Parts: sequence; structure tokens; C-alpha cells
Amino acid sequence: KYYNQIEDMKGKIRVFCRARPISSSEIERGNYSVILSPDEYTLTVQTKRGPRDFTFDQVFTPETRGGQEHVFEDVKMLIQSAADGYNVCIFAYGQTGSGKTFTMIGGGDMPGIAPRAFAEIFDLLNSNVKQFSYQVTLYMVELYNDMLLDLLDKKNNAKLDIKKDKKGMVFVTNITVKDAADTEQLMKIFDEGSKNRHVASTKMNAESSRSHLIISVIIETTNKVTGAVVRGKLSLVDLAGSERAAKTGATPEQLKEAQSINKSLSALGDVISALSSDASYVPYRNNKLTMLMQDSLGGNAKTLMFVNISPVDYNTDETIVSLTYASRVK
Ligand code: ADP
Ligand code: MG
Repeated sequence: KYYNQIEDMKGKIRVFCRARPISSSEIERGNYSVILSPDEYTLTVQTKRGPRDFTFDQVFTPETRGGQEHVFEDVKMLIQSAADGYNVCIFAYGQTGSGKTFTMIGGGDMPGIAPRAFAEIFDLLNSNVKQFSYQVTLYMVELYNDMLLDLLDKKNNAKLDIKKDKKGMVFVTNITVKDAADTEQLMKIFDEGSKNRHVASTKMNAESSRSHLIISVIIETTNKVTGAVVRGKLSLVDLAGSERAAKTGATPEQLKEAQSINKSLSALGDVISALSSDASYVPYRNNKLTMLMQDSLGGNAKTLMFVNISPVDYNTDETIVSLTYASRVK
């Protein structure tokens, strides 16, 4: 059933909602969970004014299929699509602390989508080596206060511009692109890039949660008989925290950060609603974030959005804001 759903998702955006578990320190402080999921498509939030239902293509809560492996089961077909030549984008939206990084990258011994996708890519490619040869490359960019940073070379001071090639694939000028021959190599490059995200963030005095992370894996396969080359791209995006400014403090720097994040997330929201309402004009060029994601949202691309939420009572307002944002997709 799900196979067919994913097969039809060209140009459309699917939305999965994922709630993280309540933490032991939250329980100790007397906080409690305000969410439940009566079925796999519905999330109910208990608000002061009563329960509110939100529906999504899939809902994951700690109680209902919440594990990393379950989530990846529903993502797997998209990795196949990227290997088949589609542009695939998976991104995580939500307030800081809601589980975006846990979902996209993972934590501790619980690998998330990125490492699982890396292994899946090479499993798929290696099962077809009689027919196809392949090349897998990776670049990683961080978008902070409207500035692009090359995570695979932190000393790169060249001008990074967002361009499109003849086939409409987005690329970043002067960015470091690395080849990976197997899963281990891809993982190693990715780990180095992730460390640089931390370094870059600290250098700019920013939390990594105040920047957007974009991981792009380009998969090129060549048919050994016909010589036909097919290129797909898997973009994994860990967005900056969506929380509103008041909560993030009020130093001028923090205010500037918050405004920049706000602008990029509303630009993304505008693109998403234009796409889901079949508008003739899609405002991709309003922000660097949407320019970077342009070839992976709409058109022939397959897009999956995670809306990550906290289940805890003191986050209810922010949770409702996130769920409402995600509902713009339909
Ligand atoms: P974000 O990236 O949105 O700021 P994180 O991914 O860092 O949030 O998650 C916040 C904390 O909650 C982390 O300690 C993370 O390990 C934990 N966490 C998030 N989601 C889950 C989950 N589904 N299962 C277990 N722990 C989770
Ligand atoms: Mg994070």
C-alpha cells in the first residue's frame, strides 16, 4: 500500500508527524504529555480549550511505531527513488528540542535517516553492478543568517552561490564535493562535515540549532550497455529551530538570527502552500533556503516533510504552531 503512495508522490509533499518521548527530567519536574495518536494518521493534542486533531500521511509517537527502524521503513522507498534518478528531499521541521536531529541523523546508538540512507544507497547500487556502474558524491552546506558555509572544508572562503545546471539541478559554486566509494567512506565524510558544523557554529557564537543543515548526496548511475547516465539527488535537511523569537532571548544577535530563520521558514511555507494549491507561480527565489531546495520541491521531485513535536505540556503552544504550519501542505 505504502509503495503505491510513494510511487504517486512526484511533485507532491508528504508529511509525517513525529513526537519525541517525554524525558525523565521533564517527568521529574511534574510535566506531562498532552498528545496521543488514536490511529496511524491522527495526532490529538490536548489544549486548554479541548482536544485538537491533526491528520498526516503518517504519525509516529513513542507509543506507536516510534523507533528509528520503523520510521526508516516508511522512508526506504524514497532512497530507491533517488537511486532511480529522482530528486528526493527529506526535511525536518520543528522547534528546538523536538527531535529533528534525532530523526534526520540520530543520537547515540540510534542511527537516524542519514546513516540508514547511506547504507541503503550502496546496498541498492551494489545489487545492480552487473548492469550499472555508479558514482556517489556528497556535499554539505550550512545556512546561517543567510550565509552559506562549506561543511566539507571549513577553510573554504570562496564565494558560495546557488546556481542551476542545464538539467535544472541545483548546485553551489565553489563548494567541496567529495566522492564516496562505499557506505563507510560516505559515513566518514559525513561525520567530518558534522563536526565542522559544530566548529562553524561555535566560531560564530551560534547554536547549531540556529542554522539549517543541508546534506546532498548525488547518485549517478551509468548503464553499462547503453552508456545512459541517470542522476538523482537525495537531500537531507535538518532545519533550524522554528520557535518564535520571544523564547530564544533578545540580544541583537539572537534577534537577527531569529528574524533570518523566521524569513527562511516562512519562505519555505510559502513554497509549500503554492505547490499544494497548484499555484502557477512558486516563489522559490525569495530565500536562499528555498533556492537550495528548489530542485527537490515540486516538479518531478519527491518530498517528505517531518514535523517534529514535543509531547510536553509546556510546549503545547509551539506544538500547535508547528502542526498548523505542517497542515499548510494539504
Ligand atoms: P532538535 O534537533 O529538534 O533540537 P534533538 O533531535 O536534539 O532535537 O532532540 C532533543 C532530545 O530528545 C535529544 O536528547 C534526543 O536524543 C531526544 N530525542 C528526540 N527524539 C527522540 C526519539 N524519537 N526517541 C528518543 N529520544 C529522542
Ligand atoms: Mg537539532
